Amino acid sequence: MSANQEIILSGIRPTGRLHYGNYFGAVHHFLRLQQEGKRCYYFVADYHALTTITERREVYRQTLDMLRTYVACGLDPLQSVIYRQSDLPSTAELALLLGMITNIGHLERGTTYKDKFAQIQDDPKVAGNPLSYGLLGYPVLMAADILIVKADVVPVGDDQRQHVEMAGDIAQKFNARFGETLQIPRSVARNALRLPGLDGAAKMGKSDNNTLDLLDDEKTVLKKIKGVPTTTDPAPLNTDSNDPNDIVPQMAPGVGVLYRLLHLLAPEEVYLEFVAEYRAQGKFYGKLKQTLAQHVSAFNAPIIERYNDPANGDDAIKDFLRENAKKVTPVALDTVESCREAMGIGRSLHRG
Ligand code: ATP
Ligand code: MG
Repeated sequence: MSANQEIILSGIRPTGRLHYGNYFGAVHHFLRLQQEGKRCYYFVADYHALTTITERREVYRQTLDMLRTYVACGLDPLQSVIYRQSDLPSTAELALLLGMITNIGHLERGTTYKDKFAQIQDDPKVAGNPLSYGLLGYPVLMAADILIVKADVVPVGDDQRQHVEMAGDIAQKFNARFGETLQIPRSVARNALRLPGLDGAAKMGKSDNNTLDLLDDEKTVLKKIKGVPTTTDPAPLNTDSNDPNDIVPQMAPGVGVLYRLLHLLAPEEVYLEFVAEYRAQGKFYGKLKQTLAQHVSAFNAPIIERYNDPANGDDAIKDFLRENAKKVTPVALDTVESCREAMGIGRSLHRG
């Protein structure tokens, strides 16, 4: 491996099952970068999940299940360094150091915090521990995740772009104040995806009860897709383009998510056939839903099979977690020690 090879880092919270937004916004890129032979660090963000999960027994179980799903999707713990965020506790030390130079105003402008804040104004009984110090500091912990492995590229969905940019801002501020210490991550692609929810909400999200999941069986897939709201008659399309980025915004939200998914999963000619149906404004939603459900189930089937493979059980996951934590720890400690030194508290006296 060459010393100047690009470093990739990304993570997913174990707050539920992996859905199509997670897959096409993130995991799909993880696989491509792994395939390209890049140095990839992919983690499951169990510290981050604690801003949402209130049932303590769920965190560890869901972390292992998310790791099994990673493997079922094709992420390979021998090619990529796949680890659990909390197995790298030096991330928490780096977050503490970065917190010293992060303005509260900057954090209050973070989208996750702002959205939750607005939600609470509407309904003060929102579940969990919504306005915690941890939630406000989410972007600082995320900056630590990224900066600790000296990541160059952070593949994430559109909803997380702002947080990656904040990590870059924090690193730049650190370097300006204490000298060149941290690697500045490059931002993600401008055309990053934000898949809408099956309910037509702007984003499909694990915590939003509007997801189509990679582990959904045939019956569940059909039920969920049939339930997507398509009551509105097709509105005329104000363009000749067939690109989903051009036409989906002109559709009713539920219809839009069906076309987005069809474009991602079906052969081009099938997608184009249904765009033509849409333009003809006939009654075709039943057929569209049936076709899409078939493509989704065919996509899910091999993933479900690998997920349930006994070779992909808890013991196998724990084995590679132990090995991969050993691989990521030296680079993480190197970053934290450099930051300690740069900030003036000096290197740790016991780490050697
Ligand atoms: P939660 O609701 O608990 O925050 P989530 O579904 O938003 O869960 P995350 O773990 O926060 O998932 O994000 C994991 C990755 O998936 C990130 O890279 C994020 O940008 C991406 N992602 C999440 N939802 C979508 C979506 N609807 N479209 C595209 N990418 C998404
Ligand atoms: Mg999220």
